[in-house]
Amino acid sequence: MRIDGRATLTSPPHANLELDNLPDPARYFTFQHVVSSRGCPGKCSFCGSPKLWGRKVHFHSPDYFVTQLENLHRQGVSFFYISDDTFTLRSKRVVEICRAIIRRGLEINWAAISRVDTVSETVLKWMRMAGCIQISYGIESGSAKIRRLLNKSVGIDQVRNAFAMTQRMGIMARAYFIYGCPGETDDTIRETLALIRDLQPLSAIFYILDVFPGTALYDDFKQRTGTSDDIWMERIEDILYFQTDPALDREKILSWGKTLRREFFRHLPEFVDSINLIEDPDLHPFHADFLSRMGMTFSHGDYAQHPDIPGPETTAEKLFRRALSYAPVHRAYLGLGILLQKRGAAAESVDLLLAETERYPESDELLTCLGISYMNLGQFLDALSCFDKLSGPEPVANHIAECHRQLNK
Ligand code: SF4
Repeated sequence: MRIDGRATLTSPPHANLELDNLPDPARYFTFQHVVSSRGCPGKCSFCGSPKLWGRKVHFHSPDYFVTQLENLHRQGVSFFYISDDTFTLRSKRVVEICRAIIRRGLEINWAAISRVDTVSETVLKWMRMAGCIQISYGIESGSAKIRRLLNKSVGIDQVRNAFAMTQRMGIMARAYFIYGCPGETDDTIRETLALIRDLQPLSAIFYILDVFPGTALYDDFKQRTGTSDDIWMERIEDILYFQTDPALDREKILSWGKTLRREFFRHLPEFVDSINLIEDPDLHPFHADFLSRMGMTFSHGDYAQHPDIPGPETTAEKLFRRALSYAPVHRAYLGLGILLQKRGAAAESVDLLLAETERYPESDELLTCLGISYMNLGQFLDALSCFDKLSGPEPVANHIAECHRQLNK
């Protein structure tokens, strides 16, 4: 802080050890990013968390946390990002949180961040049943040597187990990778590619290694280069590790990034084909939800237009059909209906959707899709009877006008 106009280093602020004594911000604001704990006992050399929070972790009680979710849910939030560094650090506490979410009837979905060495089948099943749809794990590299240099103390078997267990529960296991690390070579990148093919993640994020203040990597950078903290007085936003290491060059880093992303996306349809879900009747509706969400990602979401993903619609169709083999789910019927319609299979689309508009009579989306399929078959009266049932017919005003025009010919 500045004292009498001079930058002055003060002692670290007092850490609030009783997090539940903090006022619940959900009483004043509406937000999706929530935290149930602060800190992480890990000491990865690239991560600012240990310095920011200290390595001792502080927790909210399950009751405080779930009450916060409940307050936010009442304000209309139904999707949360649980931003704890490692949400599953204490499994008993996670199960308590999940039980409370279920007991209070909160119809929510959420994504969390975890470490591969802190999950088990029991915890993952509770998380799934309480609405968890995605867990992000920091894997960083397929090379044991690089993971060691980054101080990422997880073994490859733990990585494999966590990914297999998470996916079997119908939770998307997302992998974070870092490239452009100390000692990175074509060989270490090949190791990362091999690990991706082994884990078969359905989502992966690739970052270039960045040197953040407060990290061990930053201390090492200052020592290696004789730089001081005054570097931040320059107009820079970040320091990429490769810029500080003469053994690495920019073009190489960029081409590794391209290769990692391209290979991941190219193999995604195979990864989808190998999804292996646990056979547990309790989880069938959740499996249907998981598969249909993935289906929508391939048919309408991030993967639909991706140039490196071959045949996204074929993959989406497989996912929707597989979802329906577990349980009827609106999203899968709709996605499949639209795909069939796009493919010119209007009769098949009508067959599929007709019964479902009775199951979901208030679904404008299904009625619209069915109506358009009827139009494609030239059955304009049937189409109009679908459009008549819509709660809001404005978006299909053109279709309604076209039906009348055809019928008045
Ligand atoms: S990267 Fe994750 S596991 Fe490692 S110190 Fe940071 S928060 Fe902890």
